[in-house]
Amino acid sequence: MSLYDVPITALKGFGKTRAALFSKLKVNSVGELLRFYPRTYSQWGDLTPINELKNGEKQMIKATVVSAVSTSRIKGGRLLSKVQVADDTGVAQLVFFNNKYISSMLKYSEEYCFYGKVNRDLYGFSITAPEFTKVTQLSSITPVYNLTSGLTNRVVITAVKEALSMLPEVINDPLPDEILKKYNLCTLSFALKNIHFPEDSESLEKARKRLVFEEFLVLCLGLSLFKSRKLTDTACKMPVDFTSEFISSLPYTLTNAQKNAIIDCVNDMKNKKSPMNRLVQGDVGCGKTVVAAAVCYNTVKNGYQAAFMAPTEILAQQHYENLKKMFAPFGISVGILTGSMTKSAKDKVRARLESGETDIIIGTHALITDSTKFKNLGCAITDEQHRFGVEQRSKLAKKGEKPHILVLSATPIPRTLALIIYGDLDVTCIDELPPGRQKVQTLLIDSKKRARALNFIKEELNNGRQCYIVCPLVEDGELDLQSAESYAAELMLTEFADYPVGILHGKMKPKDKDAVMADFVSNNISLLVSTTVVEVGVDVKNATIIMIENAERFGLSQLHQLRGRVGRGEHKSYCILVSDNSGEDTKKRLDTMCRTNNGFEIADEDLKLRGPGDFFGSRQHGLPQLNIADFSDMESLYKTREAAAYILECSPDLSHSSFKGLKAMIKLLFSSNDSSAMN
Ligand code: ADP
Ligand code: MG
Repeated sequence: MSLYDVPITALKGFGKTRAALFSKLKVNSVGELLRFYPRTYSQWGDLTPINELKNGEKQMIKATVVSAVSTSRIKGGRLLSKVQVADDTGVAQLVFFNNKYISSMLKYSEEYCFYGKVNRDLYGFSITAPEFTKVTQLSSITPVYNLTSGLTNRVVITAVKEALSMLPEVINDPLPDEILKKYNLCTLSFALKNIHFPEDSESLEKARKRLVFEEFLVLCLGLSLFKSRKLTDTACKMPVDFTSEFISSLPYTLTNAQKNAIIDCVNDMKNKKSPMNRLVQGDVGCGKTVVAAAVCYNTVKNGYQAAFMAPTEILAQQHYENLKKMFAPFGISVGILTGSMTKSAKDKVRARLESGETDIIIGTHALITDSTKFKNLGCAITDEQHRFGVEQRSKLAKKGEKPHILVLSATPIPRTLALIIYGDLDVTCIDELPPGRQKVQTLLIDSKKRARALNFIKEELNNGRQCYIVCPLVEDGELDLQSAESYAAELMLTEFADYPVGILHGKMKPKDKDAVMADFVSNNISLLVSTTVVEVGVDVKNATIIMIENAERFGLSQLHQLRGRVGRGEHKSYCILVSDNSGEDTKKRLDTMCRTNNGFEIADEDLKLRGPGDFFGSRQHGLPQLNIADFSDMESLYKTREAAAYILECSPDLSHSSFKGLKAMIKLLFSSNDSSAMN
């Protein structure tokens, strides 16, 4: 049996309450606890001799208990326990409240490590309610875990120790022997023991190296598996290029970048042996939809169906109306399938799709449910791909016989990173906007000027325009709701009492979000106060100002996304960044926003200023979140990509029995994250 199947409540001392605390840290099984690696370590090197302790600082001492524990009752019935400890340099007093077990936990004349805030007064040093662990030869480096309120490091340490003791003598290592040898890696058993309780810093390094390797390897293999279709021949032959007749029907001339993107796609579909597997990335407003439409047209004319999946209902609706209009002159039938439709409406749409009556289907996640079937899906397109997990994208593709795949992204990322993130996806960049677009004017202000900015917004509303205000970001999920709502409520009551204001925040049900967005699209709401959920590519041409509070808390790429909500029509548009942070770095970053509207330039700058973390860390690409590996560690990543390629060469679908463990881990890594990648 796997320890992932043993609930954490199997450990000693685990009741519901404690299990609930661990659950907050996403630790529900003994297996997950073993993979709950320490955040950092405290080493004896950080020990302070008692006579050098500093008042008010959190410090660690290694000391021997030199008195009995004396316990008395104080005001309010609380228990107060005191005990003296000493090292070679002096004596300190430890104070504990309401812990009746202290006298049995701290044994006279034994040595412990204590950690807590130091108090120095007339009577000498004391530490109140320190954390402590017993000093043994083994634990010369103490793990420090991520905690949640109500949970102490000591409780986690005890639990992990017990979990480790449950490991069987021989454990199945997901990494095959051959790989361990080739890359000089330690066994899983050694790694787990030493990542939690390192024998010495060398062992810790060994353990870490192995676990990082393992995680990257699982990621690389997982990504490759999703894409392995590329090795097989396509079943969807599309020998004829029909796109020029489609292009000439458009009411505008395509930009060169758009034309090139279409040529790239059509070449893939026409000439390549394997299915197209292409990412088209380009700034908001560069016109990716029409590229997708051209691909749809070509697909249908070659005798296949096309599917176009969008992350939200509202976006699906927009695409639907758009494409319906474009394709009406050609007698191509376009359908839409979204979650909010009634069951009977959905059934009808699905029936037409299965019979082949519908040529092009636009939709949301409803497209990838089991009951959606195609007659002959030839091309699967995903819009705003960072909103979908890797698995969801591949689910859409599985609806057909190795269909062509096109993904659209408005989050430009530097090419070097794209190669890693997307592996063998081919990348086309649309680096040109349709003519006549106005640059969104971007201003950086501090909160003293907010009142003026709000007045400016009011003027625009009076002129019939619409505006967005993006709320202060709050990290804690629950506060998010409160802050967006109370902020909006304040604006509604004061500045904007006479205007229709809508609120959008992350805690709302998708249906309610869509309803608010629909009201904004139809101009029933003129001011939208929102958290970041507004960033998905909705096209409201009448929106002219976006004001972003606490702008310093956003990554540049995210700010750029938000800015893309305005400047989509003929009206002059503005982005107002509000920040009181005057740090050098912040200023530099926000100045970049004011200087340029080019997403690729901004992405490069973000990479330079903040490293690759933002591109991966903020889960903008539907990649699973990593536990121990770090994407800035490119060297390890490259090494594992090599190992992954080697493994896939031996067994392209990992069906060989020696890869069973790896396969299980791939499943774990990708399943735990897929839904959260979508916000
Ligand atoms: P995005 O790349 O952000 O998805 P869209 O496809 O939504 O951009 O296009 C934005 C707007 O630009 C749409 O209203 C679309 O009709 C228009 N558009 C696209 N291409 C051109 C073009 N070549 N000339 C003029 N307008 C265009
Ligand atoms: Mg778009």
